[in-house]
Amino acid sequence: MDLITHFLVPYIILAAVRSKNKLEGALGGISPDIDVIFAFTVGIIFPQYVIFSHRGITHSLIFGFITSTIFLYFISRKQVTEFINRVIKRDISLKFTKKTVGIAYFGVIIHLLLDYLTYLGIPLFYPFIITRYSAEIYYFADYFMMILGIFVILVLYLNINKNYKKAAMVIFMIFLISFGGIRAYEKSDVINSETPTLNGNFSLIAVYPTRDMFTWKVVKSDAQNSIYFVSDYNTIKKQGSNIKIFKSLSIKNGSYRSAQNAIKIANTYPGVKKLKWNSYYTIIEAEFNSSQWDITYFDIYTNEITNKIKVIVPLNEN
Ligand SMILES: [Zn+2]
Repeated sequence: MDLITHFLVPYIILAAVRSKNKLEGALGGISPDIDVIFAFTVGIIFPQYVIFSHRGITHSLIFGFITSTIFLYFISRKQVTEFINRVIKRDISLKFTKKTVGIAYFGVIIHLLLDYLTYLGIPLFYPFIITRYSAEIYYFADYFMMILGIFVILVLYLNINKNYKKAAMVIFMIFLISFGGIRAYEKSDVINSETPTLNGNFSLIAVYPTRDMFTWKVVKSDAQNSIYFVSDYNTIKKQGSNIKIFKSLSIKNGSYRSAQNAIKIANTYPGVKKLKWNSYYTIIEAEFNSSQWDITYFDIYTNEITNKIKVIVPLNEN
């Protein structure tokens, strides 16, 4: 989800319970996304440490707490708050107490819940379990909610009647919850419509969100996950389009055994590790050319073009 929604949701909930520390909660709410800084530093220098990419380490229950606490400590320093006040021309005060640390962590919990709803999800139990959990209801972010969110923040910022502020917050929550509800309903509708089409060849089904809440990516696969039938299902037209079939592994020229060895080596490459971390269905195409294996990796769902990489494994590595 976007930063504005992450700021607003804990802020609005805390406003509803008349908390004096709404800002601490809202700032805690945005703190896990500090990881974009990791992604552009550690992530680029050491791409093999996928946990330092966006939606990695700071999006876990344990490190989320550490992140929000450090963030709140830093931002509540007198000089920092004074600087912020000068920039935004307001007189905010931020406290760093046991209570506000707890409230900032509440913001983190809301953040994790919201990101859990989006595809790819979050490694909630890192470092104990590295798996990412996701409800796959939302695509990355919703533009409409982002624009509405900017508007609500503006209303909250302006010195206007409190009732307008309340109304703006209520409207934001109504839209957020309704969109979530519609998406959840649409997803179950797609599953119900597409499940009867399953047969012996394609016995498994998974449904993923796209930017458009009425279009869903449907992936049917065989029990071995060796072949995928992919389509875009539109819930208004009630039909699928853009149908493609992928084999999870295809080998050209060389032997199966040699290809397997080359893939094993390629799987340890940082770029491949990163692609797999951000992938639902990794498709591997291995082709032997004179003295090397050219191996292409891409993901069915997160776009085969942008998320495609090609690696070379020389034969002498086999
Ligand atoms: Zn996030």
